[in-house]
Amino acid sequence: MKTDVFWTDTFQPKDPIQVAENLPLSVDVAIVGSGYTGLNCARVLTKAGKRVVVLEKNTIGWGASSRNGGMATPGLKQDISKIKKTYGMDLAREFWKSSVDAIDLLESIIHEENIDCDWKRNGHCSLAYKQSHFDQFPEYADWLKKEMGHEKTIIPKEKLKSEIGTTAYFGGLADETSGGLNPAKYVHGLAKAVAAHGAILCENSQVNSIKNEPNGFEVMTSQGSIKAKEVVIATNGYTDMLIPKLKPKVFPVGSYIIVSEPLPKDLQNKLSPKGRMFYDSKNFLNYFRLTPDGRMLWGGRNDLSTDLDLNESASILTKQVCSIFPELNDVKFPHSWTGKLGITFDLMPHIGQINGIHYALGYGGHGLSIATYLGTELGLLLTGQKDRSPYEEISHQTMFFYKKEPWFLPFAAKYFRFLDWIS
Ligand SMILES: Cc1cc2nc3c(=O)[nH]c(=O)nc-3n(C[C@H](O)[C@H](O)[C@H](O)COP(=O)(O)OP(=O)(O)OC[C@H]3O[C@@H](n4cnc5c(N)ncnc54)[C@H](O)[C@@H]3O)c2cc1C
Repeated sequence: MKTDVFWTDTFQPKDPIQVAENLPLSVDVAIVGSGYTGLNCARVLTKAGKRVVVLEKNTIGWGASSRNGGMATPGLKQDISKIKKTYGMDLAREFWKSSVDAIDLLESIIHEENIDCDWKRNGHCSLAYKQSHFDQFPEYADWLKKEMGHEKTIIPKEKLKSEIGTTAYFGGLADETSGGLNPAKYVHGLAKAVAAHGAILCENSQVNSIKNEPNGFEVMTSQGSIKAKEVVIATNGYTDMLIPKLKPKVFPVGSYIIVSEPLPKDLQNKLSPKGRMFYDSKNFLNYFRLTPDGRMLWGGRNDLSTDLDLNESASILTKQVCSIFPELNDVKFPHSWTGKLGITFDLMPHIGQINGIHYALGYGGHGLSIATYLGTELGLLLTGQKDRSPYEEISHQTMFFYKKEPWFLPFAAKYFRFLDWIS
């Protein structure tokens, strides 16, 4: 079994990303992290004429942005009805609209920058894992249509085979706005475009400290130091102790994926007749889809830790996928890997500032489109092309018990498992 990320392992780019050999001495903006957030922020800034460096401690796009499921779906990690209760209807509408706009933005960037990343808008179907979950779908769909103007189609169990080749679920909610892509190809194409716009991309450049100076910052990296007027932190689930006050605002949660060998065309059509993106209604949810080359990609987690053994996680995930699709019992799943999601305590993405240093993070499993959106939004704010964002207006809580290590995750995992059992 291979523990390399399937997407990067099977992608041989024709033209490599132009990375810089040396760090620049000074820039307008230094961006830490080279995933969708950092690169999309760099895209806006360079297009507005700013001199920008993107500093990545591994290779460009190494983090979650090349490891994810490649599924762009509307909504945020936090449930929209809870968002309404917390922030009121106007902000809830703004957040929901931004999550839909984020998918349009992703699509427009792919087209504008001519990124070949297998993007397809085949929609998604969320699946009821229990009858009690399906019973809540009609009220939710009605509310979403009435209050958010967003259409979802209820698929009762007896019609579900038009969406998915299993009888394991109790019904579904289909949404045509969603799409899928190859994440490694997207981040590669984005990095190439951003370099072509003039951004300086530096690999193997870990940022170790940032010092305030009279006219900006001195950014100290493993390769030397840079003067920058502004600094953006775009490290999401890989946020380290670089800014001790930022660490307690986001914690990492592991997500795990297996990918099968290519499936025969008739089996692909049976399992996913419309090529949908799927996720189920559990707290410990599974997300899955066919890859553009016709393999089953199955993701999830058995707990929230980031260091599960990849053989063990592969065996858990294989059992899960075969219980839903018994046809896959004899199919091999040769790829198993993991990556870190960035989660905030209010389950909302945030744009913020600490000591004048900007950040955008906290996307949960929605970062493909939302990190693209918030990276862009932060770039627009920094260049004055926008004067506000709802994501910087809401307060960004921390918890007194979390400073460095997310010791509470095993307890949270037990709680969520309990909720899945009783719901
Ligand atoms: C397994 C998995 C499946 C997922 N599936 C989906 C999905 O299907 N749909 C979806 O919408 N979202 C999904 N996500 C979430 C999505 O991938 C992320 O939200 C998104 O990629 C975050 O992008 P980012 O640019 O903010 O961070 P990342 O792409 O994680 O990039 C952060 C980068 O910062 C670098 N870094 C950290 N510290 C430093 C430092 N001190 N100096 C220099 N560099 C540093 C890291 O090396 C890393 O490359 C998934 C995530 C995972 C892990």
